[in-house]
Amino acid sequence: MPATNEQLSKYEKIEAIVKGFKLPAAAYKRAMTLLNQELNNGLKSQKSNATVLSMFPTFVRSTPDGSEKGEFLALDLGGTNFRVLLVRLNGQEIDIQSKTYLIPQTIMLGTGTQLFDHIAECIGKFVAEHDLISHQLPLGFTFSFPCHQEGLAKAKLSHWTKGFRCEGVVGEDICQLLHEALKRRTNCKVEIVAVVNDAVGTLMSAAHGDRNCEIGIILGTGCNACYMERLDNVHTWNKEEKDFQPKQVIINTEWGAFGDNGCLDFMRTEFDREVDTFSVNPSKQTHEKMISGMYMGEIVRLVLERLTHDQLLFRSVDRECALFERGRFYTKYVSEIESDTDEFFRHTKQVLDDMQVENYTTEDCKIVKYVCTLVSARAAFLAAAGLSTLINRLNKQDMTIAVDGSLYRFHPRFHNLMCLKIKELVKPGLKFRLSLSHDGSGKGAALTAAVSLRLRNLKNV
Ligand code: BGC
Ligand code: MG
Repeated sequence: MPATNEQLSKYEKIEAIVKGFKLPAAAYKRAMTLLNQELNNGLKSQKSNATVLSMFPTFVRSTPDGSEKGEFLALDLGGTNFRVLLVRLNGQEIDIQSKTYLIPQTIMLGTGTQLFDHIAECIGKFVAEHDLISHQLPLGFTFSFPCHQEGLAKAKLSHWTKGFRCEGVVGEDICQLLHEALKRRTNCKVEIVAVVNDAVGTLMSAAHGDRNCEIGIILGTGCNACYMERLDNVHTWNKEEKDFQPKQVIINTEWGAFGDNGCLDFMRTEFDREVDTFSVNPSKQTHEKMISGMYMGEIVRLVLERLTHDQLLFRSVDRECALFERGRFYTKYVSEIESDTDEFFRHTKQVLDDMQVENYTTEDCKIVKYVCTLVSARAAFLAAAGLSTLINRLNKQDMTIAVDGSLYRFHPRFHNLMCLKIKELVKPGLKFRLSLSHDGSGKGAALTAAVSLRLRNLKNV
């Protein structure tokens, strides 16, 4: 059916509003050049204020070799839930038992003491339930926030991100805080052996079965990546060298902060700026806010709100409806809407019902889905540009990238979109594989603890 003039101008108006999400390849290439510069800046010893990427050396020097053994506790803190895991390693055989505990918002925004006491109590309960009170347990802690590490088990929180803001933790060693809380609240015999970022845990977990894996990425509530860097390039590394250690270290890039100096402004839209203004951490985590699950739904919501105001979408909506409430449009809705493949729009309609939108038409559903696809494609392409920068940098023939996070897991097209874009952006001839890392946070933390114990024993012989 040919479009009428009225429809035509309507589509032109919609296009004008969403065009900022349709970026040409040149924009992603520019982002790659900028990211590579920031990676180098962050590795320099004399850090200037212009450095936006933390590029934390993690003290993880080896990926697992498959011979790791033993019984470990692992903790996973970073999203909305907190998990305690019992991980039994025996070569490639791994047995995991875990339990998830809720972190109430009052604790996420309360004091550090409350947070760590709560964590310790959960560990105490878990250990008791599994009859492990008398066991001497090494613990690996996946703590998914930016930390300046001074050792494998010494990590000072640089700042909170995502939804957390507990008082009195920034600048403190989180291992020490956990250790003290465990002493206060439990009588279990736990030794904290390693703290890892979730990106690092994800990499370690995948590297356990794949020696080509040297990059880890998280696409979840937040977004981050880590990779194995040669020590020669890490000017911030001034530890005495022991020759049993390989000359490399995993770097936690904290690339969520990419763009915090304004260098990505050329690709941000008015909707990105609005998300930022109303976030708990304005002008921080610019890159993360364009990609991750904590923000994607809100970006879509703002676009839909704008289209509605401009009378390009939904003929009649109540001003009080959920669509106009900040934070009410979850990223999982974006995944659901994009999984509609026919003209029935089953998921889209369900979401619109949830949003209390009435009398929507099939055309409205099409527009809503279109907005979702644009916002998520930009996120996937930007993540792909970041990965391509790392792949080109490592310049290996075959590279496996370990991926984890709810956005990647549940979005129907994220993986494919990323692969397409990476193929376009990496140096010709470099092969890559995106591989979902199973239980990166739990297994990864336990493996890091195990590798460190293995190296510790090596040192003692
Ligand atoms: C944090 C990172 C973390 C990422 C994914 C970001 O907000 O700064 O440390 O790896 O979220 O959880
Ligand atoms: Mg997580």
